[in-house]
Amino acid sequence: MIRITVWNENKHEQELDVVKKIYPEGIHGCIKDFLIREEDFEVHTATFYDEDHGLTEEVLSNTDVLIYWSHALQDQFSDEVAERIKRHVLSGMGLIALHSAHYSKMLRLLMGSTMTLKWKHDEEEKLWCLAPLHPIAKGIPECISIPEEEMYGEPFDIPKPDDVVFAGWFSNGYVFRSGCTFTRGKGKIFYFQPGHETNPTYHIPEIQRIIVNAVRFCNPEGIKRIMPQNKEVKG
Ligand code: ZN
Repeated sequence: MIRITVWNENKHEQELDVVKKIYPEGIHGCIKDFLIREEDFEVHTATFYDEDHGLTEEVLSNTDVLIYWSHALQDQFSDEVAERIKRHVLSGMGLIALHSAHYSKMLRLLMGSTMTLKWKHDEEEKLWCLAPLHPIAKGIPECISIPEEEMYGEPFDIPKPDDVVFAGWFSNGYVFRSGCTFTRGKGKIFYFQPGHETNPTYHIPEIQRIIVNAVRFCNPEGIKRIMPQNKEVKG
């Protein structure tokens, strides 16, 4: 089994009717619903408001892949928990950072860059697959049309990705590296741009398939989850 924790801030869903309507069970509930259709996925959820944000040492030790959506409460997120996530990624936990999680404390720690970008609401997006042979692109068409999505535009201040699997083109002319993979320590990371809270993006079957594929790609199968250490070599 692949043990997945879907973490969501869960603030907008409680405060904005438009978001509540799209995601009555929260973004985390929607993501859990399509993940549990996979027979080998075991899915738990946690939110900002849980004790320790629901991401205790025990929870992360029992998580193969963490899926993470955040936006409005990034600054209020615990420094200690952000460090804890980083440590678990370095020791092999997979990480899928969604949409505005680009600016989360934990991802900025892992990437080491400002993670800044340009943005604008309510543009049409065409999500182009640039790497059709990549495992995250398995079964995904060349182009996915998203009728309305928040535009994220370049320059996106990220370190050089391992692979750019998807690029977004937006109707206002901007382009973006929308699906990028990174490796940090033993951990595989996928950043994926679509998923603004007022657009029903996580209901689109192809977007769901990309997230399922990304779980399989980031899963640290066969990797011993021990924190990498400095070791003296004798002889
Ligand atoms: Zn957004």
